Amino acid sequence: MLTIGRDILGAIIAHARRDHPDEACGIVAGPIDADSPRRHVPMDNAERSSTFYRFDATEQLRVWRDMGDRDEGPVVIYHSHTATEAYPSRTDTSLAAEPRAHYLLVSTRNPHDTEVRSFRIVEGTVTEEPVRVVDASVDPAAVTTYMFGQSPAAVDYECSAG
Ligand SMILES: [Zn+2]
Repeated sequence: MLTIGRDILGAIIAHARRDHPDEACGIVAGPIDADSPRRHVPMDNAERSSTFYRFDATEQLRVWRDMGDRDEGPVVIYHSHTATEAYPSRTDTSLAAEPRAHYLLVSTRNPHDTEVRSFRIVEGTVTEEPVRVVDASVDPAAVTTYMFGQSPAAVDYECSAG
């Protein structure tokens, strides 16, 4: 399951809408052992294409080095599809190199309705996982401490391919 803040997910969707009809891409960095996506890093699609994305090599080097300095990893790696469903393409699957990352796909093909789906991609095998959106204003640690273990307000949803 991917647990992600509503503000970060909103920023990813806004990035995807802004770059439409080109594919948008980026990451959400965070402590990879905690599986906690915290720092949204929108990146350039070096291809500027509506059917393909590729991180700019120089930017990727800088972003990855920055994560290393902060003891972070790419908890979420996202990109958008602008004419097809939010499902990894054959190219996406073959290029997926981070088995511990959540591969988040956003489809902007429908102007009024954004599809968001998350996947693990390990050695060419794609497995969909639920996306759990939490309000950033709710600190899960504080809630656990002060509300005796009740879980924070959250919305669980899975977007279908439609
Ligand atoms: Zn793709």
